[in-house]
Amino acid sequence: MLDLNLPSEKMLPFSYFFEISKIPHGSGNCGKIADYLVSFAKKHGLNYERDEHNNVLIRKPATAGYENRPTVILQGHTDMVAEKAPSSDIDMSCEGLRLFADGDLIGAVDTTLGGDDGIAVAYMLAILSSSDIPHPALEALFTSDEEIGLIGASLVDGSWFSGKTLINIDSEEEGVFTVGCAGGVRVDMSLGKKACERLSEGVYSVKVDGLIGGHSGVEIDKGRANAARIIAEILSSLDNVRISSIKGGNMDNAIMRECEAVFTTSLDDGAISKKILSLVSKISDEHPDDGPIRVRLNELSESVFFTYDDSRSIVSCLNSLPFGVLKMSEDIAGLPESSANIGVVRISAEADSSYLTSSLRSSSKSELARMKGDCMKIAEGHGFTIDFRGEYPAWEYRKDSRLRDCAVALYRKMYGKEPVVMTIHAGLECGALSQKIDGLDCISIGPDMTGIHTTEERLSVSSSVRVYEFILALIKAL
Ligand SMILES: [Zn+2]
Repeated sequence: MLDLNLPSEKMLPFSYFFEISKIPHGSGNCGKIADYLVSFAKKHGLNYERDEHNNVLIRKPATAGYENRPTVILQGHTDMVAEKAPSSDIDMSCEGLRLFADGDLIGAVDTTLGGDDGIAVAYMLAILSSSDIPHPALEALFTSDEEIGLIGASLVDGSWFSGKTLINIDSEEEGVFTVGCAGGVRVDMSLGKKACERLSEGVYSVKVDGLIGGHSGVEIDKGRANAARIIAEILSSLDNVRISSIKGGNMDNAIMRECEAVFTTSLDDGAISKKILSLVSKISDEHPDDGPIRVRLNELSESVFFTYDDSRSIVSCLNSLPFGVLKMSEDIAGLPESSANIGVVRISAEADSSYLTSSLRSSSKSELARMKGDCMKIAEGHGFTIDFRGEYPAWEYRKDSRLRDCAVALYRKMYGKEPVVMTIHAGLECGALSQKIDGLDCISIGPDMTGIHTTEERLSVSSSVRVYEFILALIKAL
């Protein structure tokens, strides 16, 4: 085990963190960790539930003197984003992580660490296994597959719970309490096989890359360029274009950083370059953060193409789809209310089918419904079929929250400063769980983490210790 130089009571959550790091638990692979949680509950004589989605709930009765307090739900997700360095030989579907400590930080060699959200699992196991922590009756909820669409939280059985107060431990900044978030939905648009033709004259590829990208929720307000939109603008600026393919992006919740198209046009390469240069310099001016946008034009020998009409329709569809911040919140300064992102494009004249994926977010239910309607019209108008999946509800800010008031007062008392209380433009499980439990009062907190979802993910040991102490004090105070 890694030596963190901590006294044993502070070491307890870390020993569970190290334990679960040995169990593969990437998204879609939560069975083994659910097995582990069930055997943990049995070993400690605790009542538990488990469902076919690998959600697990473990109940622990109140300690002496806390029997009359309301039940508190603690919650975190068991899955992690399983990313690894291209050079790594680790098989994250069946091997454990190789943890290391570097000063105050814990990381994993060549992979994500799963501090998001393993630290929540570790905190809950430490509290559940303890005999000397005072607390009210606890319901510790371990949800599955949060990272691929809040799946566990959306499917968990609401009748499992008697508590109405929930502490979600899935935030990445100590001293920041999240108390509301946007809802959202993923949009899949597809195009069946179309008539196509092989051409060998005037065939080019154009590739846009070097963009900053970022998270399509929390970074959508930074005004960053989307590579799919740049490609669509380039193609629509050229004359008599036919498309062979447009490919870019891997995740619907990331702003697309690179995209490549193969096309023909009646223009010669000098004219194409001129048009691209002027367009890209205009786009660069509009997105100063992205720095100089890199565009490469190459001549190819041949390819298979859509008809002119289908090509026009595809480009127009990409240009028509909503992108970026669509509306700012009227209640909270600086917070986007509604936004959209085109995350993945796979269009090819040769393939049996083509598709693109985007994600819509809004803290307003009616606005999200309106945006879905807009996408439906755009899809239908351009010959695409459309499907919506993984819709999750907004977590609406509560005017009255005993939990929030209690957490703020406690934070002030413990640290002598004000916490940041905010709502965010990204999905959290609290929204889905609020739909399951009537009148739920919740808050999301967590220790300092950086680089989540990447191989640079790091968890701060000292912050994890403080947040653990804060949670112990909070459940005692509620
Ligand atoms: Zn998370």
